[in-house]
Order: sequence, then structure tokens, then C-alpha cells
Amino acid sequence: MTLAERDRKVVWHPYTQMKNALPAIGITHAAGPYLYAEHGKRYIDAVSSWWVNIHGHSHPYIAEKVSAQLKSLEHVIFAGFTHEPAVELAERLLPLLPGQQDKVFYSDNGSTAVEVALKMCIQFWGNAGKPRRKILAFRNAYHGDTFGAMSVSGRSIFTDAFAPYLFDVEFIDLPTADNIAALKAHITSLGEELACFIFEPLVLGSGGMLMYQAALLDELLECCRQQEVLLIADEVMTGFGRTGRSFATGYLDQAPDIFCLSKGLTGGTMPLGITTCTDRIYEAFFSDDKLKTLYHGHSFTANPIACTAALASLDLFVEPETQLNLYRISRQHAAFAAKLSGHTRLRDIRQTGTILALEWETGLDTSYLSGLRDRLYTWFLERGILMRPLGNIIYLMPPYIIADEDLAYIYTQIEQALAEI
Ligand SMILES: *Cc1c(COP(=O)(O)O)cnc(C)c1O
Repeated sequence: MTLAERDRKVVWHPYTQMKNALPAIGITHAAGPYLYAEHGKRYIDAVSSWWVNIHGHSHPYIAEKVSAQLKSLEHVIFAGFTHEPAVELAERLLPLLPGQQDKVFYSDNGSTAVEVALKMCIQFWGNAGKPRRKILAFRNAYHGDTFGAMSVSGRSIFTDAFAPYLFDVEFIDLPTADNIAALKAHITSLGEELACFIFEPLVLGSGGMLMYQAALLDELLECCRQQEVLLIADEVMTGFGRTGRSFATGYLDQAPDIFCLSKGLTGGTMPLGITTCTDRIYEAFFSDDKLKTLYHGHSFTANPIACTAALASLDLFVEPETQLNLYRISRQHAAFAAKLSGHTRLRDIRQTGTILALEWETGLDTSYLSGLRDRLYTWFLERGILMRPLGNIIYLMPPYIIADEDLAYIYTQIEQALAEI
């Protein structure tokens, strides 16, 4: 039996209607931007395997560091104990973040990083004796799949089944030149009811690679600041170079109070989540009163192997070559976007740094469930390119080491698709 056949009998896949899903493609190994399948085909991983793999697959440097760590300390409980990789990662990461971040709280993935951030904000106000109940978020946001993270995400077919169990959130539209004044008035009217504002800076990922201006986000953040609303930057997707700068909040004047990081954090090697905060937040929990403790943790909090993978990924990330790659990919995306500009089959072309999104003209049927999405997905797979369209939106989010020839090949295939589909 093939991997795909064995899989079918025993595995249930994420975000997949198993009834009409195509057989899963068995991957036997991967290197650089390439995935190698059991049936012999090679795929260019144009979406960095769900946006995590920033330095390419099976990177020898990360592999070497992880393998050495495995032989000295694979894991240790993180309550009452600590270890070198966790301390060093916090020491090295905090100074890289925009503004002033002082403490790292470890967890397992992007959703848990968001849960921790929300709990920090809610309890911050409780501990201060001035409880604030409401949370502000963008209507098309995506912050993860656990219940808190779902609650602050836009309501969609992903969340429909759980709607009655999600807590109420104040949703606002993305800021535009036209609505910014109204959005600010709304925030001001909510005032001290708002505990925090959680946002994906510059690009709403799963919501459809929706992009908006840093200057407008700055205006919203400044308005929140006036009401002392805590600011949570969910950089789970945008962090570590995606938008062309190390962090998307690097484009802003205002600095967040809290950051959520995951995805690219370990270079796509291991699951790991980080929530960072300022000393001001930390100090609201620092008390002789046990009730002011942040009662949150996971079995694998700050797993040493995951922290080591993150340190190795950070070594690669800060190399000048990586910065050049970000620039190189951004420039090529921009040139390709300019070439496609005005194409009749496209409703919109958007780019921020290494992310390029093309929205297909569909007429009426734009839902995630539309047949177009599946056609595009298989069309590119047949041509050796892994993309996962979000409905009628295809996007590129490649590993930074992708070669110019591979990018050029992908662009050519996109032009071909625009002509044929
Ligand atoms: C993917 C994502 C999450 C959730 O991360 P998981 O590791 O999948 O739980 C949260 N926020 C953003 C912006 C994301 O893109």
C-alpha cells in the first residue's frame, strides 16, 4: 500500500472535508524549497508549508543544532526549572522586537500564543482592580482555532458550528481613508470598556491576504492608546521577515504592548509559540497575592529542542543573505504584479514584502467552497507547485531561499493559469 492509501484508513486531516478530499500526497523527504513525493513528483513549496518554513526544508544548520540539543536535554518541566535555549532565545528575541518588550511567555503554537495574550490583557485589568470586558478585533481577522482565538477571529464558515460558544467581540472593518474617522469615533465611544485590541499588522492572512496601510493602523493604535487599550500585535504570520521587514510592526510609529509569534519562529522545524509583553503588563501580575498569578501553561512549554530550532533559525534570519533574499523576492513580486496590472481576469493584485496575492475575477461565486479554488489548487499541483488558494485568491509566500528560476517558473505558470482557467 502507498502512504496515501494507509493514510486514508487511519488519519483525519486539518481543514479537510474527508469525503471528497483527493488522496493526501505522501512526502518522503524535502530539501530547500522542494517537497519530494512518493510517486516521484517534486513540488515547489510556494506557501512555505502553511507559512512556517522560512529558510527552506531540512535545513542542515538547524538539523545539526537540533540534533546536538536532543543528545543533551530533550525536555524539562518549565515551572520551577529553566534551561539555556529558553533563556538565550528570550535574550536574543526581545531586543529585535519593535518598541520595548521585556518578558517572554512560552507556549506551543500561534493559537496558544494568542490565548496567552488575551488572558494577559483580561487579567491585567482585573489585577489592576479596573476590570474591562470588551475586546476589539478586525472583522476578517484570523487568530487561530482554539476557542479564545476563534472568538477574536472573524465569524466565517470555519467558526459557524461553534458560534453560540464564542464570546462577544467588538469587530471593526479594516481602516481606509474613508472610514478611519468613524472607526476612531467608535473606539473612543467604547473607551474604558475595551481591554485590548488584537490585530494582524498590515496583512490579514487567512482572511484572504487583505492588506492595509501602516499609517492608518498607526491612527487606530494611537486612538486606542488614548483610551489605554492594550495593543496585541499578532505577528504569527507576519513575523520574521514576511512583510519585508523583520516584523510588520516595524513599519509603525506606535509600539504594541504584546506580541504573538509562532510559524516562522523555528524556521518551520518545530511547533513553538511565544507571547511577549512589556514590564508594565508583567508587573500587574507581580504580587504577593496568589490570585494575581497568570495560571497558564502547557506540558511542552519552552521545549528545549523547539527553542534550539528557534535559535538556529534566528542565526540564519539575521544573516545579511536572508535580508538580501527578502529584498530580492519583494522586488520580483513587485515587478510581476506590475506586469499583471490591469489583467481582466484579476479583480485585485496585492503585495506586501514577500507576500503576493492575486484575486481571481469570479462573477458571483466567491465563496471558499467554490469550484474555482479546487481547480486552481490541482492545476498548480499538476505543474509541480504547491499553493493553497483561499477561495478565489491565490498567493505566494515562499521560503526566502527560493531561487530566481523557481520564482520565474511560478510566475509563468500563473500567467498560463490566467489564460486557461
Ligand atoms: C496561523 C495563525 C495563527 C494560529 O497559529 P497556529 O500555530 O496555526 O495555531 C494565529 N494568528 C495568525 C495571524 C496566524 O496566521
